[in-house]
Amino acid sequence: MMEDLDRIEKFLNSTLRNFKGVGEKTALVLEKKGIKLVRDIIFNTPYQWIDKRRIKKISELRDSDYAYLKVKTLNSGIWIPKGFLNKRQKGYTALVTDGTGYLTLRWFYDPPQFVKENLNKDNQINIFGKVKVFRGFKEIPHPEIEKEELSNGNEKIKILPCYYGLPQGISEKIYRKIIYNVLLEGRKILKSLLPEEVKRVFSIVDTGEALLNVHFPQDNFDRDSWENRRNIYHQSLIFEELFLFFSIFTEKKKDIEKVKIKPLEFSGNLLKKFIETLGFSLTKAQIKVIEEIRSDLLKDKPMHRLLQGDVGSGKTLVALCSALMVVEAGKQVAFMVPTEILAEQHYLNVKRFLKDFKINTHLITSSLKKKEKEDILKTVEKGDTHILIGTHSLIQENVSFYDLGLAIIDEQHRFGVEQRNLLIKKGNNPHILYMTATPIPRTLTMTLYGDLDLSTIDELPPGRKPIKTILFPENQRERAFKLLEEEIKKGFQSYIVYPVIEEENQLDLKSAKEMYEVVKERFSQYEVALLHGKVSTEEKEAIMDNFKKGKINILVSTTVIEVGVDVPKSTVMIIEHGERFGLSQLHQLRGRIGRGGDQSFCIVLVDIKRLSKEGRERLIFFRDNIDGFKLAEFDLQLRGPGEIMGTRQSGMPDFRFVNILKDTDIIEKMKTNTENYFKSPNQEYIKFIKKILKVYFNRDFQYIKVG
Ligand code: ADP
Ligand code: MG
Repeated sequence: MMEDLDRIEKFLNSTLRNFKGVGEKTALVLEKKGIKLVRDIIFNTPYQWIDKRRIKKISELRDSDYAYLKVKTLNSGIWIPKGFLNKRQKGYTALVTDGTGYLTLRWFYDPPQFVKENLNKDNQINIFGKVKVFRGFKEIPHPEIEKEELSNGNEKIKILPCYYGLPQGISEKIYRKIIYNVLLEGRKILKSLLPEEVKRVFSIVDTGEALLNVHFPQDNFDRDSWENRRNIYHQSLIFEELFLFFSIFTEKKKDIEKVKIKPLEFSGNLLKKFIETLGFSLTKAQIKVIEEIRSDLLKDKPMHRLLQGDVGSGKTLVALCSALMVVEAGKQVAFMVPTEILAEQHYLNVKRFLKDFKINTHLITSSLKKKEKEDILKTVEKGDTHILIGTHSLIQENVSFYDLGLAIIDEQHRFGVEQRNLLIKKGNNPHILYMTATPIPRTLTMTLYGDLDLSTIDELPPGRKPIKTILFPENQRERAFKLLEEEIKKGFQSYIVYPVIEEENQLDLKSAKEMYEVVKERFSQYEVALLHGKVSTEEKEAIMDNFKKGKINILVSTTVIEVGVDVPKSTVMIIEHGERFGLSQLHQLRGRIGRGGDQSFCIVLVDIKRLSKEGRERLIFFRDNIDGFKLAEFDLQLRGPGEIMGTRQSGMPDFRFVNILKDTDIIEKMKTNTENYFKSPNQEYIKFIKKILKVYFNRDFQYIKVG
């Protein structure tokens, strides 16, 4: 086993320069794209295959056929697609024939020069693509093209792969050849990394063999099952990836489960009294989740629970309820949030909620005066502080708790793994409650947080009216302002949000400031304030306080108000440059309004000139949907899991073969299977599991070391 692993590791990490056909020039081009080693190239699987086993005739083409054809160009030239989004975009088109009929090739963008050259009149070319028949006219959009004389390169291979993201300066032909040569050798070396028992049950093909057949299908190729990745080769790769992926958690979970702690002792009376003071009743979902947490807190091992719920679903309140149980048990609670504004807001809320209780709550931020900070730190260390709220200032070295019983991490995906662990280490195996307002599709939760228990608040407090969302082009700002003015006249408040990509970005900051001047002038009879990341903490506090009290009518702000800010009287939000925000950010922003039971309006101003096709889809979807889960699912489809909610930070590897949206059934099946396997695993396999994971994922995994 060990020898095999070493061989596999060595092969995966060997440089492409060792292989036939990779000269200095090619190597440099590839390396510039980050493709240096075998493992950088072979896992990038094709999105489509050109089947050259049969050359079709134009006369026999039917709608949706995939066809490989030999044709001659009759004419070609620029073509302007009809006004999509008022944007004038150049396309390209060519008319070709093979003597049996005519066919139009069409590009919806301006294709590269070499494509156009291939389309010069009378050129003999081979083309491949998916046929569309429209009113009797046959067409292939975005076909693959090769010059006639190039086609007799690798005659053995009849089915050719096509790849996304081919580096500029490398032809498909060369790229294919490299992968082919690499895999001819890889086929002998790359054994499956699964245990024999699992291989047998799922009829798994060895990894090298599977890769070769995925890239270069043989005679058993059939388009459907290759495109859907439902053939034995694709499946073998997907199974292997999932099994190894879930093994990471199994390992991690075992570490966690070894830890034993003294169960907390509390009656729940404190919490009961608190709930009686609320003046409203908890939602069913809140009660259910609090119960889940209560039962965790009474166990002899630390809770690791993720609480997810849409914006405004009442997570913060649930967190506070959890805190009260821990406080009653005589332990301390740390509440870490990503921004100072949010920390202050939570602090004020908690103070307000707990005003009738003798519970010491303190706030610690980076902008606290030295003396104030020292005083607080002392009470924390003595155990006199029951609940400590703060940003990452909580994880600074000089913060030490007397007895930390519960760490709450709000908007947890905004913290890196390291930061989260630092907080956890402030206690002796504290209970941990992670919270997120970004609802995540189930499979993503399962894969990202496979080691956490999950609680979901799937219901909003009663009496909320759905927010109306309106999209306006920028030049209709005045219409948006009029609507805003109406609402102010009724005594409501509003936000105007400006994008800031990075807080340091002076240019964006200036834009928010400029906007502020415009708004101040337009609404001279009202109170307008400006809030951004560079405003001092005192000023921020004053502004938020005044806004809460209704003394400020319009708050012009950057996205610093994105999370947690809770002012029920605000019913309008204007978002400037909506095209520059991602879906989850838009959703978070919109969650700031509609909290008080009054009809609220979210107006998104869009710079049409900068709006991409994808951006347009995104905004329309945003307008038509308020359910955070739906938005998240759509986002996932649009951007892929790696981009979403900083999952990169989560420390988990991205998938190579698994598609989170399409492979739901396999993911669930494989998760169960992996967990079952590790209940009574082959001891020989277990010995090597760390090494296996290292070989496959090319890194060591940083486990949350508990204790
Ligand atoms: P989240 O953190 O999930 O975005 P919050 O905990 O900030 O939501 O709750 C949003 C608002 O709803 C707050 O003003 C909170 O006091 C209020 N709230 C929470 N739970 C309820 C409930 N069960 N009934 C009525 N209002 C509630
Ligand atoms: Mg919140």
